[in-house]
Amino acid sequence: MTLNKKSLSQTKQVVSRDPVLDLERKPVDESRITAFESNLRGRLLRPGDEGYDLSRKVWNAMIDKHPGLVAKCAGAADVVASVDFARENGLLVSVKGGGHNVAGKAVCDGGLMIDLSGMKSIRVDVAARTARADPGVILGELDRETQAFGLATTLGIVSKTGIAGLTLGEA
Ligand SMILES: Cc1cc2nc3c(=O)[nH]c(=O)nc-3n(C[C@H](O)[C@H](O)[C@H](O)COP(=O)(O)OP(=O)(O)OC[C@H]3O[C@@H](n4cnc5c(N)ncnc54)[C@H](O)[C@@H]3O)c2cc1C
Repeated sequence: MTLNKKSLSQTKQVVSRDPVLDLERKPVDESRITAFESNLRGRLLRPGDEGYDLSRKVWNAMIDKHPGLVAKCAGAADVVASVDFARENGLLVSVKGGGHNVAGKAVCDGGLMIDLSGMKSIRVDVAARTARADPGVILGELDRETQAFGLATTLGIVSKTGIAGLTLGEA
């Protein structure tokens, strides 16, 4: 399958009209997509696939964007492969952590959404009083793991907000 206008018929809104970044105007060969998919430990979702709509859903229910592809990353290697794939094919990219950005920046119309929300590892170093957390972790999950050791860090007040966007200072 080639990602062209027909296969992207579910894409209702196309924000980017830049010909370099617009997947609708710059189809990607199926062979490249298949090679990318086979290189992922996570899943590659297309419009209509089970889980696609759940993945593109964010906290702000008014956001209704339709990525051309969604890479559900399972680890850092998947993230590297996704960024490489997008760069090599000149695709628009969005990155989803906890999905709480009110403007819905985590989701793109067309292009590739790199969905990190399934990456949930948290490791607490009690001696160093630090924690390392994956980009899909939300505030309540980090609190739970740190509080088990009597530790806490400054976060927001809504437990389902993502640590990624909050840490990066995204509104
Ligand atoms: C109900 C609610 C309560 C909130 N409460 C607070 C609060 O108490 N304190 C506070 O400071 N803020 C709060 N916020 C704001 C929140 O911190 C930001 O919206 C933050 O960006 C959410 O992060 P996220 O990972 O959930 O969002 P996402 O929408 O997934 O990501 C936000 C932005 O960061 C980018 N991004 C995400 N992960 C990565 C990554 N790994 N690499 C590069 N870019 C990435 C996304 O592309 C997007 O542009 C709240 C927001 C909501 C909706």
